[in-house]
Amino acid sequence: MNEIDILLLSGAVRPLLQWYQENARVLPWRQQPTPYRVWVSEIMLQQTRVSAVMPYFQRWMEALPTIRDLAQAEEENLLKLWEGLGYYNRVRNLQKAAKMIMEEYDGNMPSDYALLLKLPGIGEYTAGAISSIAFGQNEVAVDGNVLRVISRMLGSFRDIKEPTTKKEMQQLLRAVLPKGEASAFNQALMELGATVCLPNGAPQCMLCPWADSCRAHEAGNELMIPMKTPKKQRRIEEKTVFLCICQDRIAIQKRPAKGLLAGLWELPSVHGVLTQKQLENQLADWHIEMVACEKTETAKHIFTHIEWHMQGYIVEVKKLAGDFLWVSWEEVQQQYALPSAFKAFTAVLEKRFT
Ligand code: SF4
Repeated sequence: MNEIDILLLSGAVRPLLQWYQENARVLPWRQQPTPYRVWVSEIMLQQTRVSAVMPYFQRWMEALPTIRDLAQAEEENLLKLWEGLGYYNRVRNLQKAAKMIMEEYDGNMPSDYALLLKLPGIGEYTAGAISSIAFGQNEVAVDGNVLRVISRMLGSFRDIKEPTTKKEMQQLLRAVLPKGEASAFNQALMELGATVCLPNGAPQCMLCPWADSCRAHEAGNELMIPMKTPKKQRRIEEKTVFLCICQDRIAIQKRPAKGLLAGLWELPSVHGVLTQKQLENQLADWHIEMVACEKTETAKHIFTHIEWHMQGYIVEVKKLAGDFLWVSWEEVQQQYALPSAFKAFTAVLEKRFT
């Protein structure tokens, strides 16, 4: 560890805590930071902005107010509560962990960092956040936001995706962590990253408590830090999506138990963009008798490593057939979570049925 960096960060702790005290946003999980609420909020906030998470969090806490409720919930209900947040493994891991907490810890979340790390879906950052915010333990919580802020403060051009960079930043932060104030310190760093030292676009250095000591700001190279490694190109998959409709019923099916969007409900789809003839053959394979067929607008959905380019067809069907579940629009809304990858097509259905 570099002693000069430690000195710089040590001097920055008090101004940061002072700034946080004056500027912290009022958030539901901050007002009542119970272990369960902190845990659920941190998992929801992975990959999703605070403003988007708020209604999900409120709805979740009303439906599942305790770890026991989560452990006992039906999977369909969980997926419905999560619908639109994406990365569905997160919600499945939440339930697996809740079951472990019921069985091994009598329903009480462990406070210890090392024990938290053993729960499904809880990595170093989340374990640090829960143990410090909910239990007041002296642990750091370092995610991409914190790495960006600290890299700029130190004027570091190191690749923050490299595990060694993260390890060293964790050590640095441990060295300057104000004992007994880990909760405020970690949240202050996250808040600075979320509201001032922004990831996209210019950081708001004029509002920053570190403006006088930040090396990147002094050198004017805030926008060059952190260094971005070139992203791998996403693989493009073309698909044909079927909106099969029989009076007030819509065909849905379950995706395979493994792979992308594993085990979730979807509109029937096949690989590739089909010609009219291939489309008719596919419907015949499914034993579906088509009455009419209409193309929808094309749609695109971007996952981390894959892009789906989709062509939809509204297919009017003579009678219920095939290995599908035929459900009403109300049931789609209330019971069956369709991933947001299909949202262009659920919008078509919504228009038709409401
Ligand atoms: S001064 Fe600017 S670049 Fe430095 S930490 Fe603050 S917001 Fe980020």
